[in-house]
Amino acid sequence: MSDAPILELRRLDAHYGDFQALFSVSMTIARGSIVSIVGANGAGKSTLLKTIAGLMPTREDAVLFDGQPIGSEPAFKVAARGIALVPEGRKLFPSLSVEENLMIGGQTKRPGNWTLSRIYDLFPILGERRRAPATSLSGGQQQMAAIGRALMSNPQILLCDEISLGLAPIVIRDIYARLPDIAAGGLSVVIVEQDVMQAMRAANHIYCLQEGRVTLNAPTGSLSRDEVTAAYFGV
Ligand code: ATP
Repeated sequence: MSDAPILELRRLDAHYGDFQALFSVSMTIARGSIVSIVGANGAGKSTLLKTIAGLMPTREDAVLFDGQPIGSEPAFKVAARGIALVPEGRKLFPSLSVEENLMIGGQTKRPGNWTLSRIYDLFPILGERRRAPATSLSGGQQQMAAIGRALMSNPQILLCDEISLGLAPIVIRDIYARLPDIAAGGLSVVIVEQDVMQAMRAANHIYCLQEGRVTLNAPTGSLSRDEVTAAYFGV
């Protein structure tokens, strides 16, 4: 496996019309790493994931995937390259069953070894409820299904937007406990998280965004909670 990063952001800007949401954001995502992005409401975390996923335009050379500039590619091309987004709010297809939702993730036809049975090994409850409508699942189960659907595309990078939002602590622990298994095969995982402690526990590396700018970029092992909190609130 190459040591070159799977994803690099170089001075990335993002705008909503005249409003600039991200300012010169630079990041490096190593292969097989788990990276957390923390920041307060409105810091630009979702905008960043949407920009990487091709849902918002940016400069061509602001996003390098496997060394190739992809910043102006549309979302379907970015997905075909192996960047999968687990969107905030899960966005499952409500009229479809759990299994049908998972199979939609497999439509990209990328090579790899994520199968329905591997997803059911990872999240056994999804196997038990595979014929149930997605809407009948609990919030935590829906989050598992959204992660499973993204994994079915055999991505090289999994972008997870606020996977703990609205979930009970025990469910959050259960989902986070699976991340090392997910990353074990060399997949990189980027998680947007508001809970600093959760983000530090889960990740090898952490970035903090404040008002669209990176205020912290460090390996989690070397950091204290106070340092992250200071970057989070800009104190
Ligand atoms: P949250 O945790 O609340 O989701 P966030 O860190 O993900 O926050 P973003 O949703 O990326 O932040 O928002 C960054 C900035 O961009 C905010 O000032 C927000 O108001 C603005 N913004 C987000 N979406 C839009 C939009 N569709 N149109 C205009 N401005 C937007």
